[in-house]
Amino acid sequence: MALEKYQKLLFEKIKQKISWWFDNQPAELVDNEEVYRFLHSIKGTSGTIHLGGLHFVSSTLLERLEAGENMEWEKDELRDFLFELISLSYEYEHFRESDFKKSEPCCDNLPLIQIIDDDVTMLILLKEALEDNGWMVMTNTEPEKAVSLYYDLQPDCLVIDVDLPSKNGFQLLESIQEHNHKQFIPKVVISTQTDRNTRMNAYEMGADDFIEKPIDMEEFIVRINRQLQRKQIFDQSVLIDELTQVYNRRFLFDQLDRYLKDFERKNAAFSIGVLDLDHFKKINDTFGHLTGDKVLEAFALFLKQQTRSTDIVFRYGGEEFIVLFPNTNDQEASEVARRILEEFSKVEFEVQGRSFHVSFSAGIYMVNKPTEGSLDILKKSDQALYKAKEKGRACVESANETMLPATKILNVSVIDDDAIIRTLLVRVLQNIDADNVVLNIESYENGEMFFEAGRLECEGKHFLILDGVMPVMDGIEVLSKVKSTENASQVNVLMLTGRKTEYDIARALKLGADDYVTKPFSITELQARIQRLIQRMF
Ligand code: GH3
Ligand code: MG
Ligand code: MG
Repeated sequence: MALEKYQKLLFEKIKQKISWWFDNQPAELVDNEEVYRFLHSIKGTSGTIHLGGLHFVSSTLLERLEAGENMEWEKDELRDFLFELISLSYEYEHFRESDFKKSEPCCDNLPLIQIIDDDVTMLILLKEALEDNGWMVMTNTEPEKAVSLYYDLQPDCLVIDVDLPSKNGFQLLESIQEHNHKQFIPKVVISTQTDRNTRMNAYEMGADDFIEKPIDMEEFIVRINRQLQRKQIFDQSVLIDELTQVYNRRFLFDQLDRYLKDFERKNAAFSIGVLDLDHFKKINDTFGHLTGDKVLEAFALFLKQQTRSTDIVFRYGGEEFIVLFPNTNDQEASEVARRILEEFSKVEFEVQGRSFHVSFSAGIYMVNKPTEGSLDILKKSDQALYKAKEKGRACVESANETMLPATKILNVSVIDDDAIIRTLLVRVLQNIDADNVVLNIESYENGEMFFEAGRLECEGKHFLILDGVMPVMDGIEVLSKVKSTENASQVNVLMLTGRKTEYDIARALKLGADDYVTKPFSITELQARIQRLIQRMF
């Protein structure tokens, strides 16, 4: 076992160097000579102490270094260059070589499952089993939080325990039931109470399946898989959004393709508009999600009534709608959108004696290059929409007039005392490709440094990747401090926790963490997950 000690020392040394370069060294550039010596020494030692993988990677890097002419390294460049070495160090340290996780293909279309259970042990167990099966899982113990996350993320399947304490699972089902008449999301109820009445109740409230506790895991996976398949078949077979009765996203892409082909053939120009309701979250928060649903229905109907019969209205997702204007240039389309905005802003909504008005912002784009694909077009109009939001909302912007790309900024902070993990995460984040979103990434060794840097004062949304266990101010403390600041609603938190810290997971979720990942994590999975979270944040 003597080798193990030396292996550990070597990783310690790698870690120190990484930490020096990327956290502490004041100079902007790193000397090539230094990188060379570092790799050379790893190559020499790793072979001797039976770290074959590390030996191979350091040798390859050395060869590349010798072939290149770099004299000095920018830090981002160096982080990229050393990435394989850093991730290998991470894996060596966290997985025994025998149980290296298979790296799964990175894909942002993984089904998303939301589990709601107040029994954290159960929650962890189910999450692990589902994730091992390649699915993405969000967890909640608190029904209130669960409902809002449900609307935000629109999962592909909901697993819900009906013995929840504060608001029981049935009430929760009830509060989303009306929404569910109109939007198909399969719901699987799990319960220790298995009497006929409970089961009947569950089905009446919209459950698609009922599973008794204790749960047979293998069967559980099969049954969830079946629900996911149903959801997929459903999504592929309908073209109308059930809630708002306008066309859905799938049909949008069919139509865009059609119009693009027409454009190529007949040079028939057309415009598209993205219309996004302003401060819609506030309506949900103030009047409840059912009122939110009613506003969506009313808006969709209004759009159908106020556009020409040749224009087509789609629900793109959430509170975002798209109008396709055939044979229309961007100025005409903008005019139509402005007129609709003016009229819609006058509509008075009434709930429990209180009245309110709703506005929207819009981005318009006229297609003028046959080479553009549907995604390019959507991106352009989305940039214009973002500009309209930036200008203060309730206005219409055209991407053809202002071609400067508008971009959304997301402040991402990694707080972890482990230098390898920090470096790894920064690199993973730098490679995330989110439409029109620019990530402003920073990493911190501990919570104190994070707060001292005044990071939360940066304007815009924040995303925190937070290590649960740290020497100076642990993750839970950082989380509770973050959640008590004014900015709390702008901050999404992903906790990194140890496998055996059920108590910490429970606390983190109670304190408002949005998700957790257990260490050691697989890098590709984490990347897919972060990508998805970020995309859904906008
Ligand atoms: P902004 O003016 O910047 O657009 O702010 P916003 O609050 O409208 O935008 P944000 O994207 O932050 O929030 C949109 C919310 O829409 C989040 C989600 O809870 C809600 N939502 C999405 N789909 C539905 C739905 O089908 N029904 C209801 N009631 N709410 C939904
Ligand atoms: Mg909105
Ligand atoms: Mg939106």
